[in-house]
Amino acid sequence: MSTQTVKAFGTEAPTADLKQLSIERREVTAKDVEIDILYCGVCHSDLHTARNEWGGTVYPNVPGHEIVGRITRIGNEVSKFQVGDMVGVGCMVDSCRECESCKEGLEQYCEAGNTGTYNSHDKHLNIQTFGGYSERVVVDEDFVLRVPENLNLAAAAPLLCAGITTYSPLRHWNVGPGKKVGIVGIGGLGHMAVKLASAMGAEVVVITTSASKVEDAKRLGADRVVLSTDAEQMKENAGSLHFILDCVSAQHDINSYLSLLRRDGSLTLVGAPEHPLPVAAFSLISSRRTFAGSMIGGIAETQEMLDFCGKHNITSDIEMIAIQDINKAYERLLKSDVKYRFVIDMASLKN
Ligand code: NAP
Ligand code: ZN
Ligand code: ZN
Repeated sequence: MSTQTVKAFGTEAPTADLKQLSIERREVTAKDVEIDILYCGVCHSDLHTARNEWGGTVYPNVPGHEIVGRITRIGNEVSKFQVGDMVGVGCMVDSCRECESCKEGLEQYCEAGNTGTYNSHDKHLNIQTFGGYSERVVVDEDFVLRVPENLNLAAAAPLLCAGITTYSPLRHWNVGPGKKVGIVGIGGLGHMAVKLASAMGAEVVVITTSASKVEDAKRLGADRVVLSTDAEQMKENAGSLHFILDCVSAQHDINSYLSLLRRDGSLTLVGAPEHPLPVAAFSLISSRRTFAGSMIGGIAETQEMLDFCGKHNITSDIEMIAIQDINKAYERLLKSDVKYRFVIDMASLKN
């Protein structure tokens, strides 16, 4: 299969900084589109993967799965897109398309394993996939999304992961009017969850460790804020919430958050910390509570989320960076010091 050489930014070891690299991508095949990447969001999963915190990272690793850009070339069987279209690519670039999950539009739960945008097995080239910290990407049109024209393109990039990862569980657990919903961890995912749950009509309670985010939370759409480091505030809110979306990237005491749920309430984890989180039996059994998890969202639901965001004019609050600042950005991400998503201006890679 013929390939092209593409400039990218990635890492060669768990403890090494990210730096400029060259990668090989396939040439456009019949069903592919080639996208000139304009912006790419910086997800905490990029950092977990670059540093091999979940195990299984193959090096060199090029992260990035909040990709937006312009189509530059299309294969001769592409029917959904044209050259010049503004599009997005999220966390997946392929799946088996035949299993029960794929047939139900839940490609993220593909029984054969979906093909992640990075650090996944690329069946075309038989190497690992490389993500969006790069000049361009070649993707099967079935895994390409349309970005609503009224949205700022750079601020829309984080919708491709942070947006869909929070939209999908909010929908699945029927968040809407009459529901009291807690959002824990106001980073990239959490701040999108606040905006989305508020647009869905729920009463939204932000639960944060950062005093500096209390004021902002209301602007994002929260009705109330709980500072989780204040035991009194946690106690006052015990047993009050129908649903909690936990977007925390690091170790935290899950039991203290479960205590905020009412009887029959559910806490869904989307955050993916490196180590297990111990759950006390009585955190669940005493109020028939549910502890669940959710991973990104299917392709059709991702388009639904983008259209919802277009309709409600929802994008991410971003801080734009040059690719050369990515290592500093990772250090700030670890300190919960970003309001609320870094987005890389990919023009900086062409310098
Ligand atoms: P992020 O921007 O770094 O946000 C994480 C937030 O968690 C921080 O802003 C902070 O919020 C809170 N936090 C950090 N350390 C904490 C601690 N020790 N105790 C309590 N809260 C803490 O990360 P992100 O990009 O939103 O990603 C969040 C997590 O979701 C990551 O683990 C990522 O890998 C995972 N993820 C999962 C999926 C999925 O499909 N399930 C998809 C994407 C990402 P406050 O300052 O408000 O406390
Ligand atoms: Zn992500
Ligand atoms: Zn499948």
